Formats: sequence, C-alpha cells, structure tokens
Amino acid sequence: MKALSDMILQMADCGMDAGIILAAREKMSRVTPLVRDCGALCGAACCATDEDGRGGMLLFPGEEACYRALPEGFMLHADDSVVPDGLLLTCEGTCARDTRPLACRVFPLMFVSENGGDVRLDPRAWALCPLMNSGMEGLWGDFVDAARKTARLLMADPACAAFIRAQEDYVKELTRAPWDDGGMA
Ligand code: SF4
Ligand code: SF4
Repeated sequence: MKALSDMILQMADCGMDAGIILAAREKMSRVTPLVRDCGALCGAACCATDEDGRGGMLLFPGEEACYRALPEGFMLHADDSVVPDGLLLTCEGTCARDTRPLACRVFPLMFVSENGGDVRLDPRAWALCPLMNSGMEGLWGDFVDAARKTARLLMADPACAAFIRAQEDYVKELTRAPWDDGGMA
C-alpha cells in the first residue's frame, strides 16, 4: 500500500478532497456486520470469485488513489455500468483489511442519499448474504452507526454524492418489478 501522504497527494492531483475518501475508509475500518466474523457463517460468500477466479466492486470517486500500487491479486478495470468512467476493482477472494474498498466495508448495506446520507440493506446482497433475513436490526449497531456517519460524510462531497445517487438509481432499475413502468395508476 502507498503511504497515506502519497495517497493524499495523488487525490489532490485529481481534484479530490483526500480527507473525505480516506476518512470514510477509516470510519469503516474497525467495524464489521456482526461482532464476530460473519464470513464463517457463509464461507465468505461475498468474496467468492466468478468462473474466471475474480470478484469485483466499484470504487468510489477518487478511491483509485488507494490502489496506485495494487495489492497482490487486485486489478483495476474500466466499468461504466453505474457511472461514466467508473472503475471496478477485482480481487481473487482474499485481502488484507486495510486494502478493502469502501463497497466491501459497507456490505451488506449500501449508502443512500436520503436524509443527507443514510444506509439500507443492499438488495444485491439477497442472493448471497445470510444476514439479510434478520434485517438491519440483526447487524452490529456500531457497524450501522459507522456506516450512517460515513454516508453523511460522503454526501458532503459532490462527486461521492453523485456516485451514491447513480448507484441508487442503478439498484432501483435492477430491482424494478417487471410490471412497474414507473407510471401512476
Ligand atoms: S455474505 Fe454477508 S454474512 Fe457472508 S461474509 Fe459477506 S457480509 Fe458476511
Ligand atoms: S476486496 Fe477483499 S473484502 Fe472485497 S471481495 Fe475482495 S476479498 Fe472480499
């Protein structure tokens, strides 16, 4: 990993407020969905790789500065499925905690824009995460609190706020019922 000061300089170079993305990662660095290792419940299903041996998650704007020196097994790919110029970080299913992207740190929650920044269960987690059945109440309170605070912090940055809104729209489309055409009855 790059030294913190290097990351801050790289983020400043690309016009990003380094403080926000680093503070967001820091806020989510000591909390996990359960007090115990939830990966033991599911064989770390959310880290499972695809048929090519890779899994991936989108980086938040500016977060790529944390991956200029890619940890072993990580790769970066262009991905415009959610936002133009998006970046997908792929891994091989294991990582050191301090190399984890924000998307992994908050899973199975997702950041949303409501209330100036909030979290909710990520519907994409239903297919693999056994914690979804017990809802937000089943998650470690400190994890949910930290994720909420992180959402508010990210919403204070225009690029991160736009990313969160775009992701909300993307998930809304993904989960739209086939009979819902967006119209009124
Ligand atoms: S799928 Fe859910 S329970 Fe399993 S490791 Fe990921 S967050 Fe934890
Ligand atoms: S980066 Fe780490 S936490 Fe995220 S999917 Fe890969 S192995 Fe799992």
